[in-house]
Amino acid sequence: MSIIVFAEEWNNQFKKASFEAVSYAKSWAELAGTTVTAVTSRGAADPAALATYGADRIVTIVLAATPYGIAQQLAAMAEGAAGMVIAGTSIGRSIAPALAALAGGALSTNTTSIPTGTAPVTVVRGAFSSKGIETIELTGGLPMVSFVPNSVGIQERAGAGAVESMDTTGTDLLQVTEKTIASGKVALPEAEVVVSAGRGLKGPENWAMIEELASVLGAATACSKPVSDIGWRPHSEHVGQTGIQVNPNLYIAIGISGAIQHLAGVSASKTIVVVNTDAEAPFFKAADYGIVGDAFEVVPQLVNAMRAFKAGQ
Ligand SMILES: Cc1cc2nc3c(=O)[nH]c(=O)nc-3n(C[C@H](O)[C@H](O)[C@H](O)COP(=O)(O)OP(=O)(O)OC[C@H]3O[C@@H](n4cnc5c(N)ncnc54)[C@H](O)[C@@H]3O)c2cc1C
Repeated sequence: MSIIVFAEEWNNQFKKASFEAVSYAKSWAELAGTTVTAVTSRGAADPAALATYGADRIVTIVLAATPYGIAQQLAAMAEGAAGMVIAGTSIGRSIAPALAALAGGALSTNTTSIPTGTAPVTVVRGAFSSKGIETIELTGGLPMVSFVPNSVGIQERAGAGAVESMDTTGTDLLQVTEKTIASGKVALPEAEVVVSAGRGLKGPENWAMIEELASVLGAATACSKPVSDIGWRPHSEHVGQTGIQVNPNLYIAIGISGAIQHLAGVSASKTIVVVNTDAEAPFFKAADYGIVGDAFEVVPQLVNAMRAFKAGQ
């Protein structure tokens, strides 16, 4: 009756969200008086690292190529489990619903809390595009949680951590024929700092300063929906209700009005800084810090100030 957690890797390295997932599973397991079994790809360079975050048993498998295939593999291990945990990364969000259907799971998506009770398992989740929160009880199936990355944090807490390999196959319903991977940039869904810009930037030629600020801060770049719709930026940067939902420690919004659909995808950010010429822009109501000013004057100053700060460190 273990809590099973899927630990995702990328280029053989664990994602930060995977350590958070194992930490999550351990907190739940402590509450339930049980252990944690982490399942990961046989390609992971250092599976034993998961023990640092509380995995009592680490199972490596040859992962299927697609989320549905992975869901099948995890479902095959679900019998007798006390619960399942998956980080709400892009891949995790694809796996979780299929896994719930295959394993008869009671799934909480968009979860932002460790279980507060175990009989039944009770968690808090974002509802209505995270404009509200609700407390739900996972009844009527194997309790499963997909949590928002960066919402519960990573905790080091050793487990026994023995590594073993297992053979399990999943049927990929799709064949991946070609993969193109953007490299050299911080991945938006997992970024701790996001520099985001909107239509106030006037045109794609003005994004150099946004990328410069992102580079100085080690941040990912993002944009509002119209910006990607017009083709100023790629759709992969569009955040909001109909785009990627982000949850960074710092979200800097430049020349974005703060429409409700945009806020739906970014309002869970821990600290929000807004730069806008219009003091009445709705985004200021959601901001922790606001600068009423022209992005073309403010952003270069921010870049210089950050550079000077880093040089002085
Ligand atoms: C069903 C639906 C779903 C949607 N989903 C999304 C979504 O997921 N994400 C999303 O972003 N939007 C979404 N939208 C669109 C949303 O309603 C807004 O239209 C959009 O977010 C506005 O983008 P913006 O703030 O970049 O542009 P604008 O609304 O044009 O705002 C530009 C802002 O820049 C400021 N500005 C202008 N010049 C400067 C300057 N020099 N320096 C600093 N500031 C300046 C202005 O004061 C203004 O506040 C959705 C809409 C619908 C109907």
